[in-house]
Amino acid sequence: MIHTDFIRYLKGVGPKKEEIFNKIGIHTLDDLLHYYPFRYEDRRNFKKIKDIKENEFCVIKAKILARNLKKMPYFMRAKRVKNILEIAISDDTAVINCTWFNQGYLYDKMNISDTLIVYGKPRMYDGKLKLIAPEFEMFEEGEDSLNLGRIVGIYSATQNLGQKFIRKTISLALENLDAQTRDSLPFDVRREKKFPNIVQSFKGIHFPQSFEEAEKSRERFIFEELFFSQILVYLRKARHRSQVADSFSAGPKLIEKLKQNLKFSLTASQEKVLSEILNDLAKTYPMHRLLQGDVGCGKTVVAAFAFACAVSSGFQAAFMVPTEILAYQHRETFKSLFRGFGYRIEVLVASLAKGEIERIHKEISEGKIDIVIGTHALISDEVIFKNLRFVAIDEQHKFGVAQRALLPKKGVNPHYLIMSATPIPRSLALSLYGDLDLSVITELPLGRIVPKTMWVTEKKRQWVYDFIEEKISKGRQVYIIYPIIEENEDEDLRSLETMYDNLKSRFSKFKLGMFHGQLAPKNKLSVIDEFRKGGINILVSTTVVEVGVNVENATVMVVENPERFGLAQLHQLRGRIQRSNYEPYFILLSAEEVSEEVSQRLKALQDSNDGFKISEEDLILRGPGDFFGQMQHGLPELKIANPLRDLELLKEARAFAYKIIKSDPELHKLEHRFIRERIEALSAELKDSFSLLEEKA
Ligand code: ADP
Ligand code: MG
Repeated sequence: MIHTDFIRYLKGVGPKKEEIFNKIGIHTLDDLLHYYPFRYEDRRNFKKIKDIKENEFCVIKAKILARNLKKMPYFMRAKRVKNILEIAISDDTAVINCTWFNQGYLYDKMNISDTLIVYGKPRMYDGKLKLIAPEFEMFEEGEDSLNLGRIVGIYSATQNLGQKFIRKTISLALENLDAQTRDSLPFDVRREKKFPNIVQSFKGIHFPQSFEEAEKSRERFIFEELFFSQILVYLRKARHRSQVADSFSAGPKLIEKLKQNLKFSLTASQEKVLSEILNDLAKTYPMHRLLQGDVGCGKTVVAAFAFACAVSSGFQAAFMVPTEILAYQHRETFKSLFRGFGYRIEVLVASLAKGEIERIHKEISEGKIDIVIGTHALISDEVIFKNLRFVAIDEQHKFGVAQRALLPKKGVNPHYLIMSATPIPRSLALSLYGDLDLSVITELPLGRIVPKTMWVTEKKRQWVYDFIEEKISKGRQVYIIYPIIEENEDEDLRSLETMYDNLKSRFSKFKLGMFHGQLAPKNKLSVIDEFRKGGINILVSTTVVEVGVNVENATVMVVENPERFGLAQLHQLRGRIQRSNYEPYFILLSAEEVSEEVSQRLKALQDSNDGFKISEEDLILRGPGDFFGQMQHGLPELKIANPLRDLELLKEARAFAYKIIKSDPELHKLEHRFIRERIEALSAELKDSFSLLEEKA
């Protein structure tokens, strides 16, 4: 048996279990062995109940003395508690109560005098220690050595795949490994890092003899994940470099002329980034560059220079943005910057009349349109360019990996710029987006005033309204942001409308407008237009305005229920009001009581206006899975590594990967054959159109 075999060949894994395993992505022995425990319990010695302490995790083994299931009557189901299960357990030194909510089905499993292994953090209630919703396993007499008397790995289990079953299955898979099992991590690397070989590492991570062994094995697998992600990154980069692109001939004269059309001068940081981009555009291989910069730093204008270079060199260029509003707004920016240049600029969005879309498609294919700015309508099959050589994507995180990859395919190795307002630390960016070169705008235009961020609670609503009134009387405009997370949820929409009606009567002196994703596109445009012109004093909106809306006179923003928004998103919203020289106010109006996590988030916003710091904080608060899912640029999912926590390992992995690809760019050497195999396996899994296999084809 080799470890690419399917798990169904293992004893005890029937079709049903296999199906469940498949659901969590486990198909082969190899997948199974890479299903790591997320923590360990020391079951060499259980804690005596009499010795446990408040707030200290403990593992105890104890017998059930009594059980009680309380069903809550319907009218009392406050906080959605339907039933409460209470179990008293004892290990002869003392008794402790365990409580579970809404887990009534456990009642029948927990019989008096059964033995349980319980893991949790005791809390004090009415002077007594209690375990609230602890994790547990049923103990069975004569139990084998996998689950007891040792350090035991704890896996994320589903109802039908219990801890013990997972352990048992993994141990069977381990028995099938032998010294011949291939180790895709190169020997040199292992030797230098003093990593155990693959078989020892699997044993060490699943059934460690000591915490040190578990740690070293984990480190190896973390390193391994990062190493292969970096190999992929370097391979992709090498492939970009080997492509041939048209270089842009437009030179310094054009740039000077454009600068004369600007109302302001570029910041030093914009200048630096611009020269990095211009430098790339003169090359004969395609640019692949990520432009990062905090919201409001002026990325659009820098991108606009690149558009001009493309068009003046005789090519077409395309700009993909996440919303229609933003498409129209960028067109205005471009028109103003390109006045007197005679460029043909069109907006292509799904809401245009059918005939209009057909005309634009036709003119794009005939090469009559120089610059097309659009939403995902740009990547539809009907869009065929004559000579597209430059593409840019704004607010790239709003697009899926596959969507982003489609745009450059519309041209022949076009120069490629993607833009992001979610800055992350440089070393991280290099790794996650490693096949892209990185440009960062590090400063805001001169004269921008940092918004005053105020977190207030419901009690102060009247004060907030008075504050709004005062600011409007002074001529400013206001956003009130309302959390509709799912734009298509009717219930949410209704509550936005109710909110709007309430506000209308409270602010009867002023003009209010309502803005959300479900408005007809025409209405969306007219509302924003009206707001821009000053005809609307208060815009009651969902987060649709988060992306790109630029109304300089709107300097007050109130966010209702900020607890429902992520940190980075709140920061993006705040960026909307930092567009002029009036003092901006960002008011978070939360419920009276919020969770610790929410409180941390809102405080972080109050304390900092630095997008880099905010996104780092976001990363820590949200944890890597969520964050990187969104950030990663077509890399395999990280199961065990956390690039932020493991930054040092990441740097080392990156250095090793670099050395290998430099000496053997195609991975042809015999000693690299396992790396190649692994990369091919990883890359085939990616549905991403960047995938290596496709590029090879
Ligand atoms: P973002 O980087 O968030 O996309 P934008 O490109 O929308 O930012 O720019 C925000 C605003 O700042 C725009 O109104 C733009 O005209 C203005 N702006 C850009 N660069 C400068 C600058 N160097 N000096 C003054 N204002 C600038
Ligand atoms: Mg922008």
